[in-house]
Amino acid sequence: MKNIFEKSQDIEGITFTDEEINLDFIDKRFLRKDPVGLPEISEVELLRHYKELSDKNFCIEKGFYPLGSCTMKYNPKVNELLAGLDGFNLHPSTADEDAQGCLELMFKLQEALKKITGMQSVSLQPAAGAHGELTGMMVIKKYFEVKGDNRKKVIIPDSAHGTNPASANMCGFEVVSVKSNDKGQVDIDSLKEVLTPDVAAIMMTNPNTLGLFEENVLEISKLMHENGSLLYYDGANLNAIMGWTNPYLMGFDVVHVNLHKTFSTPHAGGGPGAGPVCVREELFEYLPVPIIDFDGEKYYRNYNLKHTIGKVRAYAGSFGIFVRAYAYILMMGRDLKRVSADAVLNANYMKEKLRDYYELPYDEQCMHEFVLSGERHHKEYGVSTLNIAKRLMDFKYHPPTVYFPLIVHEAMMIEPTETESRERLDDFINVMIKISEESKNNSEIVKSAPHSTPVKKVDEVKAARYPDLNFKE
Ligand SMILES: *Cc1c(COP(=O)(O)O)cnc(C)c1O
Repeated sequence: MKNIFEKSQDIEGITFTDEEINLDFIDKRFLRKDPVGLPEISEVELLRHYKELSDKNFCIEKGFYPLGSCTMKYNPKVNELLAGLDGFNLHPSTADEDAQGCLELMFKLQEALKKITGMQSVSLQPAAGAHGELTGMMVIKKYFEVKGDNRKKVIIPDSAHGTNPASANMCGFEVVSVKSNDKGQVDIDSLKEVLTPDVAAIMMTNPNTLGLFEENVLEISKLMHENGSLLYYDGANLNAIMGWTNPYLMGFDVVHVNLHKTFSTPHAGGGPGAGPVCVREELFEYLPVPIIDFDGEKYYRNYNLKHTIGKVRAYAGSFGIFVRAYAYILMMGRDLKRVSADAVLNANYMKEKLRDYYELPYDEQCMHEFVLSGERHHKEYGVSTLNIAKRLMDFKYHPPTVYFPLIVHEAMMIEPTETESRERLDDFINVMIKISEESKNNSEIVKSAPHSTPVKKVDEVKAARYPDLNFKE
């Protein structure tokens, strides 16, 4: 038989001989004498391993994911297609004149975010929401430094996301907590008490983490500005308000936006994400560089901002995420307003259907999410919120966010998002009702859940401290 490979040059691999590899430049002491003995596995076995892991994992494509404050909406697959286009696959060091298309996309994304947030300038750099917070706080810090105004404190409501105090603290600010009142709103009198001349800013999200719109936000911004302080808006909850109002109109000075929540780019699993920071005109010169500019003829990276805090990330940001977010914004256009309306409608629908089965500690009209409490189940049947969350997994539902916000006992924070159908919402509601009944009549099945997942109840502390990442089953 003729060997068809015999004469072929193309398919020959390359094998280096010892003579060809000159390692003289390495000190002999550091050279390995024996082969390293790395474990080997065939490609297909490796693939099976990862496929198996991914089958065990949960994702939005597998089921409803009402994880409050995380906006786990469906990520349209066309976004992936567009992010994979050849022309977007550039090295980040490509010169401006050879990257006009990518720069144009980034510029236009900045413009869109300005419109949505009401702000005047944007930096796309930060790699996540928390990173956006840190960047925003660095901008605020530098702003006061340049003014020669030594302000040390940042006020944060007790309902805030944990990243807020962490970001302020990492920036060297002292965090001052302000209480919520019995309606779940920032208590104005408590705010006045802590509003001293050395307060640099307040960090808030609106709607807050109870899913409630802060009705006094204009009064709060007036108080802060009269005190010479700034207002930071945690924009992770932007999905609730797009097109209806914006952080600028509410009186905020700095806002970060989670592209990987509101703007449908994939998230969880460690990234990449993107947390652009948008600011008022007065803070433009403080943004991290580069920002993307247009001189009337060409797009370019602008490094020339007078008081810039510098760079907060390599290159110009998570470009693949920008493509997905921009595609989503273009696709939705003015319907972004409907996105928020539907997100709010879905949350209120669910809240009303579940209020007779779980406690509703703040009985108000909610925005894009709402918080229930499992306190009665805990007290009367010994079934904790964690048990309820685990039991949901038996019905192929991702649990809601639990035990957050901290100000609600046995909290369950539910965010359905706008991308779920009425049928799906109804099914989830029925499962929640069923679990409530089980808690009363058959509590063991809830307490010992989950029963159907590849891994049963885990010791969460141990899992975090001693993760077992071995390949073997
Ligand atoms: C998700 C979230 C953040 C943090 O965003 P990451 O991208 O996860 O860093 C901050 N604040 C609120 C209210 C959030 O929901």
